[in-house]
Amino acid sequence: MITKSVIADLPSPPPRSADPAKLAAEIIERLTYSIGKDAKVAKPHDWMTATILVIRDRVIDRWMASTRQTYETGGKRVYYLSLEFLIGRLTRDAVSNLGMIDEVREALNSLGVDFDAVTALEPDAALGNGGLGRLAACFMESMATVDVPAYGYGIRYVHGLFRQQMSDGWQVELPETWLANGNAWEFQRRESAYEIGFGGSVDTIGNGSDETQRCIWKPQERVIATAFDTPVVGWRAKRVNTLRLWTAQPIDPILLDAFNAGDHIGALRESNKAEALARVLYPADQTPAGQELRLRQEYFFSSASLQDILRRHLQQYGDLRTLADKVAIQLNDTHPAVSVAEMMRLLIDIHRMDFDQAWDITRATFSYTNHTLLPEALESWPVPLFERLLPRHMQLVYAINANVLRHARKDRGFSDEKIRAVSMIDEAGDRRVRMGNLAFLGSHSINGVSALHTELMKQTVFSDLHGLYPDRINNKTNGITPRRWLMQCNRGLFGLIREAIGDDFMDDAEKLKALEPFARDAGFRARFANVKRDNKVRLSNLVARRMGIRLDPSSLFDIQIKRIHEYKRQLLNIIEAVAIYDQIRSHPELDWTPRVKFFAGKAAPSYYNAKLIIKLANDVARVINNDPTVRGLLKIVFIPNYNVSLAEVMVPAADLSEQISTAGMEASGTGNMKFALNGALTIGTLDGANVEIRECVGEDNIVIFGLTAEEVAQQRADGYNPRAVIENSRELSQALTAIASGVFSPDDRDRFSGLISGLYEHDWFMVAADFDAYTRAQRQVDSLWVDEEAWYGRTILNTARVGWFSSDRTIRQYAKEIWKAGP
Ligand SMILES: *Cc1c(COP(=O)(O)O)cnc(C)c1O
Repeated sequence: MITKSVIADLPSPPPRSADPAKLAAEIIERLTYSIGKDAKVAKPHDWMTATILVIRDRVIDRWMASTRQTYETGGKRVYYLSLEFLIGRLTRDAVSNLGMIDEVREALNSLGVDFDAVTALEPDAALGNGGLGRLAACFMESMATVDVPAYGYGIRYVHGLFRQQMSDGWQVELPETWLANGNAWEFQRRESAYEIGFGGSVDTIGNGSDETQRCIWKPQERVIATAFDTPVVGWRAKRVNTLRLWTAQPIDPILLDAFNAGDHIGALRESNKAEALARVLYPADQTPAGQELRLRQEYFFSSASLQDILRRHLQQYGDLRTLADKVAIQLNDTHPAVSVAEMMRLLIDIHRMDFDQAWDITRATFSYTNHTLLPEALESWPVPLFERLLPRHMQLVYAINANVLRHARKDRGFSDEKIRAVSMIDEAGDRRVRMGNLAFLGSHSINGVSALHTELMKQTVFSDLHGLYPDRINNKTNGITPRRWLMQCNRGLFGLIREAIGDDFMDDAEKLKALEPFARDAGFRARFANVKRDNKVRLSNLVARRMGIRLDPSSLFDIQIKRIHEYKRQLLNIIEAVAIYDQIRSHPELDWTPRVKFFAGKAAPSYYNAKLIIKLANDVARVINNDPTVRGLLKIVFIPNYNVSLAEVMVPAADLSEQISTAGMEASGTGNMKFALNGALTIGTLDGANVEIRECVGEDNIVIFGLTAEEVAQQRADGYNPRAVIENSRELSQALTAIASGVFSPDDRDRFSGLISGLYEHDWFMVAADFDAYTRAQRQVDSLWVDEEAWYGRTILNTARVGWFSSDRTIRQYAKEIWKAGP
């Protein structure tokens, strides 16, 4: 075992220089000796790898210092367990946080290489679906920034989220291969390998008396989890934390007996089965995948992570009874909820603790973040599947449940109905294990991700659990890292702000407030408008290059980018486009605001309506963009393959940010924060974090419309009649009739009739109910746009007032109120 004193005595190499000439020399050295290429023949990807290796050395210096510091000070470590990390590209993030952008640029220039071209070659790591995964990535960066010792734990998917292509306007999914050419940012850690079991049986040994009785799980299958580490650099490289992703390997890579007997395929069965675990990210959003492989993935990464956490704690402190003092584990949604049962198994079966003590330590260690109220999105597993795959965990779930239900009934007088609601087993229909209840009961803190979402959580999904444990639910409104989402993606605005108010905001985003007086400064407004225009030109060039569509950057850029989902209501936006199209043709004499409506986003491959909505956007775009009577006043552009890198180009170019979900259904949203920070006006419902954005920017600087969450619930309860609403609105019925009758799909007139009749029949997402309010809000946007001076005044105030939505603030709240960790 390594002791503190030995660690202190180990010599460290001298820190690496940030001098451009030295950087250039090292890049050449790496090109030659690590990649084996002569600079004369090196390809752009060789330059990229050499550059990453040189930057990586600078990161490693700080990484080791951070790890040592945590060890030596005995600081509490935070473990963020997430099945998704939507990290995107890492190189520019690392260089920028090291404070070496200018130096690295200069070094590469001196070698005749362009920094932007090199960084654009890095694959976009999409180990997540959307907001939940991107939040995990922003949190990793903020934990390093605010000096919280933290590890992110997840799966190193070989194939991240699919690549989206359009074929005749339909989404086509292609496999994504971010690791195909290696990944210079990661380090394999062969020493961090753990056995993970599945299936089999549980033996009880010892006789009768509780003290001697012991359960031993004898799994039928076993795989090895091996770690790959990626350093995560905080702002100014104060701290570098670790993102540890697990990959799966078979115990026996090849069954030689089978191979020698001629069964060449069977010989690889074990190997294929193990590797399948870390092969693909489930492409779902707001609906759980529900297949056995998914449960296997959840257990695989939970078990590997917990074994790693306990090993590290024992190695340093030698006693698991102090676990909760030194370890905080955050569950990002219920995907890692099986960790609660796994922790109990490890403490009781492996480390021989008694049940009550293990349960106290478990609850003191875990906390859980809920991300959705949609009942169909709450994870649960059929009891027979759970029992077959994890027989020991099933026993422990029953034991924990019995404990909790006894307390609820005996001490708190819960009725049968309430007992059914708080139970970890759903007894209605086929019996299922409720992962939300497991996560809730196994945690000391359960948080929502915006003020509204947290309140609704108390009133709906967890109302009875909240009644049982009223101190546990708390709010932590989401945030975004201002490094990636302002300082790097919008260099023009970043530079302009620095000129105006100095550098303080770079260390505390709330200092952006100092920009407020500049909203009244005509010179500043003009420069702000110029930056916006440059960003719009950059996006227009991307659209011209990729799609061959010409855009006018002086039009209003109206952007809705996010996963395609009925509750996010891209359909509402498209129907409004159809309605304006009608109006432009009927009233050519009016002054229409030239507008480009941008869409981007992926649909889950099995989500039929979402894919149909993509097709509708493309069909509507083709007709409108090619109709000369529109005179270019309205354009629709659906940019394929939405990912972090595309967002980094689109967000800075937006004039208008579409955040129009059905109220009560978007837990927080983080796209809304990115746009406001980059000087876009929001058009949105009072949903998720929009509510708090309005409070920060002021109601004159945001356009709010539509039903509130309460009104949505009321209308549904009162028997909402969409047909009557539609028939009452001439604009809406005309637009719907046009779509349903095939105006935009002459090749298949009935293509959208089912989608539209769904609106007449149930309209669960209240598209019809909010339509008129939405069109009025859009016309209000048009009138605001006309007064250019006032428009930029408003957008400057948006940038100035949304610093609170920095994920640094969110992480400080988690650290202080939940984890009790960090400075
Ligand atoms: C921010 C972000 C999201 C989340 O967007 P919402 O509008 O909050 O749903 C999803 N995907 C990517 C790539 C993002 O950058």
